[in-house]
Amino acid sequence: MIYKTKAIIISSTEVKEFDRFYGIISADHGKKQIIAKGVRKVTAKLACGLEPITYSEIFLAEGRSFDRVTGVIIHNQFNGIKKDLAKIKEVRKFFKIIDWLLIEKSLEEKENKELFESLIFYLKLVDKEKTDNLKLLVVKFAILWRIIHWLGFQPQIFCCANCSEKLKEQNFYQMILPSGIVCEKCLKTVRINSQIQKINKEIVKILRVYNQKNIKIAFKLKISPQQCNDIRRLTIVAISHILGRRVDL
Ligand SMILES: [Zn+2]
Repeated sequence: MIYKTKAIIISSTEVKEFDRFYGIISADHGKKQIIAKGVRKVTAKLACGLEPITYSEIFLAEGRSFDRVTGVIIHNQFNGIKKDLAKIKEVRKFFKIIDWLLIEKSLEEKENKELFESLIFYLKLVDKEKTDNLKLLVVKFAILWRIIHWLGFQPQIFCCANCSEKLKEQNFYQMILPSGIVCEKCLKTVRINSQIQKINKEIVKILRVYNQKNIKIAFKLKISPQQCNDIRRLTIVAISHILGRRVDL
């Protein structure tokens, strides 16, 4: 059976003499590995639309192990990214982390759609000639925290991770990753082995927006460079816990 899907190409790997595997994030099917035959021949028409960091409509024939590409219509090649080596590196690094995060578990239909749309939003931002780097980071971290939430690794940010009591409004909170924020009372009694992160209430607010809202709302957040650094630090610790390896963001 042949079907079509909108997808972002996130990786490519060479196989055999002329073939290539592609990693895609599809709006309907989430992360998927597909194969294209003959794309490494000089005359291959498909290759261009399957280049990583491209948004294409892909036609696929169902296969026993991998679905095979039969046609491609390019929607956006993101040439603003492709002509800038630093941007390419940045996007590919981000794609790699998403790829690792989605190795174990596939997302639900609604989540796949949101992830796909969020990534298109992110790519369009990076593609612009004048990119606001702070905004870009806000969006990047928002996408990662959405994935953390979907995968079921969301740390507690509304209630105490130990006693489950609703957290009181305070200026600073103590967060223990991967579990989450621990209330003052529990901090005195609980034995803590992992490192405590001290975070202020603004950071907690941002994490709550990331948790509950979509990317377009997160985009509107006003974040200072200092807050951005705090979020980066937390994101690195949270993701490193999930992946069991240190990531760089
Ligand atoms: Zn508690």
